[in-house]
Amino acid sequence: MTFAASPPVAPQSAGLPPLPTTEWRNLPAAQQPAWPDADATGRVQDALSLAPALTAPADVRRLASALAHVGAGRAFLVQAGDCAEPLGSQGLAAVGGKHRILGEMAETVSQGSGRPTVTIGRIAGQYAKPRSRPEETVDGRVLPVYRGDMVNCHLPDEAARVPDPTRMLTAYATARAVLNELHLIAHRTASSLVSWEQQRGPGQQLPTRSWDGSLRSVLKNYGQTVEVAGAWTRTGMWTSHEALLLDYEQCLVRRDSHTGEHYLLSTHLPWIGERTRQIDGAHVSFLARVANPVAVKIGPSTRPEDLVALCARLDPHRRPGRLTLITRFGAGQVRDVLPRLVEAVRSAGHDPVWVCDPMHGNTVTTAGGIKTRRMSDVLDETAGFFEVMFRAEQWPGGVHLEVAGGPVTECIGDGGPRTEEGLGRAYQTLCDPRLNDNQALLAARHVAELLAK
Ligand code: PEP
Ligand code: MN
Repeated sequence: MTFAASPPVAPQSAGLPPLPTTEWRNLPAAQQPAWPDADATGRVQDALSLAPALTAPADVRRLASALAHVGAGRAFLVQAGDCAEPLGSQGLAAVGGKHRILGEMAETVSQGSGRPTVTIGRIAGQYAKPRSRPEETVDGRVLPVYRGDMVNCHLPDEAARVPDPTRMLTAYATARAVLNELHLIAHRTASSLVSWEQQRGPGQQLPTRSWDGSLRSVLKNYGQTVEVAGAWTRTGMWTSHEALLLDYEQCLVRRDSHTGEHYLLSTHLPWIGERTRQIDGAHVSFLARVANPVAVKIGPSTRPEDLVALCARLDPHRRPGRLTLITRFGAGQVRDVLPRLVEAVRSAGHDPVWVCDPMHGNTVTTAGGIKTRRMSDVLDETAGFFEVMFRAEQWPGGVHLEVAGGPVTECIGDGGPRTEEGLGRAYQTLCDPRLNDNQALLAARHVAELLAK
């Protein structure tokens, strides 16, 4: 599609109904880029506001329903993908690997747990990154930090790091192409499943992992029920990303004419990151107003009273499946910090989906300056999460992982490089270190074992 340049107008002025309130626009928004050209940004936003939505409200509601099953302990969530997705053809090229590895992980978890898996990619929109520092030093030069392909370019060059609003259009176009690719892959997968079903003899079992495992898991466990039909069966996974860049996200809010509710249709499941979860900040206020299921990342500094306030703000009506809390404490802290947060949330009468991200609390920098994670920490935090949840008689709803869907060498140990010297062989991530296929499947087997206990 082409985006004709037009005079700058406010994003919601293109005949679209506004969000119920725009209060969030006056609140502080952390981690936003300083675009160099306000007119160009306005033109981009105008085009995005007129562009077709990327997801459909009915599908978003089906995911909420699937997440309600997860919250009730009837299913398990596997959410995984890149830390930062690349734009353009590189992003498209990565889709097949992601689809395959997520399916295999889902199948592994399902077989171990005897429960269906709800599979969500960090995909088709994970293009903007929060950063700990606004600048970084590369070879002695101080540069503005890379903020994700939707904002600037990762190459260590002053000009490349200047935020470019037209990247938001490329991000939208890439997300559409990625979704289309997922549809094509799932269509091929479903056709082979049907033809195999027709050909197999009596008593023959479905083969394991010869195609997308997550599709099989859900067909087996849910049949054709509405909870998992819709977009999931057409793509093999739901989509999610951090709803960080508000200049982009606000343009993809649409009113559902059937229900009158506003949905963020850049994805199915948007989440709020650890760095933008301020209760009085723009991100919380923005996502409080959309009807999607929403998630929030919470780190070790989270105070119980702040978490309870967040739950009340994002899920005031305590709707099953509406709120997912993604914990990322680090292997050293999960057993100490998580119990009181679970207790505080429960005492306040909230029942969110609890999900473990065993990656973001375990990032370390090697002596040589390379960001990595140790598999031993990833597995230990996961085990700690399960221990705490089982002790609290709370369902451990899922895992959230960064996986490449290919043979990268970004995390150390168990199916990856044994020492930091091996990291350089295939270190390809745009941002945080991801698990390779061996490591992702090991993490999934670990989860299956913990669930089988
Ligand atoms: C991420 O998921 O890539 C991320 C930055 O996470 P967090 O908000 O938990 O730090
Ligand atoms: Mn990350």
